[in-house]
Amino acid sequence: MLRIVPVYPELLSIYGDRGNVRVLAQRARWRGLPVEVAPLRLGEDLDPAATDVILIGGGQDRDQALVADALIAQVPALRSAIADGVPVLAVCGGFQLLGHSYLDQSGRETPGTGLVDLVTTAGRRRVVGNVVVEVTMNGVKQQLVGFENHAGRTELGAGVAPLGRVVIGGGNIGDGQTEGCRVDRVLGTYVHGPLLPKNPWLADRLLAWGCEHRGLATPLDALDDRLEAAAAQAAIDIARAETQTRR
Ligand code: GLN
Repeated sequence: MLRIVPVYPELLSIYGDRGNVRVLAQRARWRGLPVEVAPLRLGEDLDPAATDVILIGGGQDRDQALVADALIAQVPALRSAIADGVPVLAVCGGFQLLGHSYLDQSGRETPGTGLVDLVTTAGRRRVVGNVVVEVTMNGVKQQLVGFENHAGRTELGAGVAPLGRVVIGGGNIGDGQTEGCRVDRVLGTYVHGPLLPKNPWLADRLLAWGCEHRGLATPLDALDDRLEAAAAQAAIDIARAETQTRR
């Protein structure tokens, strides 16, 4: 049984991030894979042996502060799962909580898990808008499309690679350069939307890693992603048009 574990979805699932959970589960079902969504609720402990994909969604500053201590208590189990090859997708607030700390606009410093060497500090203005990112994974260039809305400016540590290069949008520090982070199978990103419906290649990458972890057959059968591709192209066209009007 492939287990998809959204972490504290009752608080970390802003801007539709719960859609990422539904896309992963449905793309598994379309392939006839045995799949279960097993949310980790506040107060529960993560069982690394019963976890194949970890999803940490975004949240308001206050939501992040509410979950931080509980999430930090899960670090040993998270490290065990990651070391065993379980992929993590952390979006926005979840991405920030992968790091050492998040200093929000009120001056409150929320501690992070320290799973990835990064630090986030809120800027005065929010970074908001459509975003297109070029990601190179296993030597293949792909595009990520979606939406970003964050005060945080995330600085990656020296040994941490960005997830991708910003083509349109703000990205990690709002300067249009780099976006997200990647350490092996731990992916962080500011891209909401939700992210996975319009980026099926990333959904299948996470699913394949999860299946490998569970000993289920890979590579995954191809799906008819024409609708997803059309949605992604529409999002890119909107982002490009917005960029033109801003000039
Ligand atoms: N509260 C964080 C910020 O404003 C994360 C927001 C989010 O998850 N979209 O940067």
